[in-house]
Amino acid sequence: MNALLPRPSILTIEPYVGGESKLPGVNRIIKLSSNEGAFGPPPSAQEAIIAAAREAHRYPDGGATRLREAIGTRFGLDPARIVCGNGSDELIAYLILAYGGEGTELVMPAHGFVMYDLTGRYAGCRVIKVPERNLMADVDAMLAAVGPRTKLVCLVNPNNPTGALLPRSEVQRLRAGLRDDILLILDAAYAEYVTDPDYDPGNALVDASGNTVMTRTFSKIYGLGGLRLGWAYMPPQVADVLARIRGPFNVNSAAMAAGIAAVSEPGWIERSVAHNEEWRAKLSEGLRALGIKVWPSACNFILADFGDAERAKAADASLRARGIIVRAVGGYALPTCLRITIGTAEECTLVQEGLAAFVQNGG
Ligand SMILES: *Cc1c(COP(=O)(O)O)cnc(C)c1O
Repeated sequence: MNALLPRPSILTIEPYVGGESKLPGVNRIIKLSSNEGAFGPPPSAQEAIIAAAREAHRYPDGGATRLREAIGTRFGLDPARIVCGNGSDELIAYLILAYGGEGTELVMPAHGFVMYDLTGRYAGCRVIKVPERNLMADVDAMLAAVGPRTKLVCLVNPNNPTGALLPRSEVQRLRAGLRDDILLILDAAYAEYVTDPDYDPGNALVDASGNTVMTRTFSKIYGLGGLRLGWAYMPPQVADVLARIRGPFNVNSAAMAAGIAAVSEPGWIERSVAHNEEWRAKLSEGLRALGIKVWPSACNFILADFGDAERAKAADASLRARGIIVRAVGGYALPTCLRITIGTAEECTLVQEGLAAFVQNGG
């Protein structure tokens, strides 16, 4: 008998574990484990989803034309070079499968987003995780790790789960040091939260180079993670590749309607960013006052560092006992840390109180 087996690299993948959302015996859960926007979906997006229900028997627009136009208008980009996806994860997978594969290498920072590792293995790439410096991607080390088989370099900026923002000049230096036949994926899932005026989520670099793609998502600041909607901005020749391989109806009509409404919701980003700045600072300062190290973050989460893995585990357990779920990041080689999403004012206050009690009780 011949056993049915997938390609060998598939069995090296550990299935992705998302942020948890339930605790046994707890009614009211404070879920701060997946970086979902603090305010939920914009009201206009909720209305659009309801309206889309009446047309649910119709196939969606396979070209996502109105959505791409709305995104292009909102962010000042050419809609012809935007491709939408069932979450940005789908677009990332298409890119890695199209440009990577058996016999190639994918280079990423050691504490970069885990989906690049999982999808790289799926494609058959050898995934090279490059050590970081002080939880910041090390451009020199990444360039040194690139070899003749390297086809993909993946950088999340600002990074999940560290929150680190790599300066624009460093991202440019990374691109400039890569061969032209290497695709640089710049994942800007948290772009809307960044307030540093020097930041380029990828718009400028995609335009300046023929081999860089920027990916974005509606799952974070726009609070639409449940509908699965992402997009990417890319050179025309990469858009042509995705047009050949993506599912013809990969984005559903409710997601498209919600996305169009969300990018047009007046003041949504401003309000979300103002809230995030205020409460990220308050929670960071509050935890530091308790003696907990907090890494600098440009995102809607903070990385709290408890110094050792046992203490991080105990802190996680004590928050859970209060119904608060944050994210353990041992899978990102950060076992001493917990990643905490910036939720509502009340949720942030409950985290602060929970960790204060943890420290006061000798934790
Ligand atoms: C949340 C996140 C995404 C978003 O993925 P979607 O598939 O669009 O929900 C992508 N990249 C990073 C780094 C993220 O943190």
